[in-house]
Amino acid sequence: MKKKGRVFSGARPTGRQHLGNYLGAIQNYVKLQENYDCIYCIVDIHALTTLEDTHLLKQNTRDMMLDWLAAGLDPEKSILFVQSHVPQVMELHTLLSMVTPLGWLLRVATFKEKVKAQPQNVNYGLVGYPVLMTADIILYKADTVPVGEDQLPHLELAREIVRRFHFLFGPTFPEPQAKLTTFPMVLGLDGERKMSKSYGNDIELAASAEETRQKIMTAFTDPARKFRNDVGHPEVCNIYSLHGYFNPERQEGIAPQCRAAEIGCVACKQLLAEGVNKALAPFRERRAEIAQRPGYVEEVFADGARRAHAIAVETIKEVREKMGLP
Ligand code: SF4
Repeated sequence: MKKKGRVFSGARPTGRQHLGNYLGAIQNYVKLQENYDCIYCIVDIHALTTLEDTHLLKQNTRDMMLDWLAAGLDPEKSILFVQSHVPQVMELHTLLSMVTPLGWLLRVATFKEKVKAQPQNVNYGLVGYPVLMTADIILYKADTVPVGEDQLPHLELAREIVRRFHFLFGPTFPEPQAKLTTFPMVLGLDGERKMSKSYGNDIELAASAEETRQKIMTAFTDPARKFRNDVGHPEVCNIYSLHGYFNPERQEGIAPQCRAAEIGCVACKQLLAEGVNKALAPFRERRAEIAQRPGYVEEVFADGARRAHAIAVETIKEVREKMGLP
């Protein structure tokens, strides 16, 4: 079947993935494999812009790929690799940095936020991040990038850099287009903030069924429902919204029961734990099976790097020629 185009997406090595990662990104990555040539990259160099301690980087990268594979990313269908394993991206980053006006980068909202968030570590990489991101995409001549609405300005900047390169040296790359994707904002167990490992409010995909149940039992629910006989407000309850993903057939029935205090939060959470565990059972089985295959994840990394490298060297050759490098 002819594919619709080439997708590139990169994600930082955050280690074992959680339900928010799965619902927000991985599920979509898996679907895109059917209709696009997909290149999925764990962007370890990007991670260095915000990390001061790198001792977990290798393990986190490996754990993340293990979860991706168990969730259905298929190395036969997609190129799965680690950013730094294809060093041409650093070369393209340097070359693009020569055509990118500094003013464009200093205006980027996320750069300003990072400067506030880590004043002790305002490194050059933070400013150059959009240039490296552009290099990531265009090194592989990807034409499609799955993004949420909040990332559209970054992609627009990538296109600006591509246009500037084309203006100076002639057409070379596809202008990457957004494949606008609704990434559901999955709240964490605190019911307030986005699910994230750094807030400690997450449920790991690879957690056991019992660990998952225990975590769900600790989750915050409707803050106005203090006692079993108080009526609830499912529309403000995170457990209720998680039922929508993991127990869709039951969710509708839970709302009136909650509003009439016919179901208690303990029972409601038990139902959610059953739904989550049922949905994750095939993932866990596959993860255990892959984890038992010695060297398999490393083989996937090596094969992905080999295939990505083959595209990258051609692009760099073309770029060097266009730029007139001796
Ligand atoms: S019964 Fe369920 S939906 Fe209602 S407040 Fe409790 S956990 Fe939330």
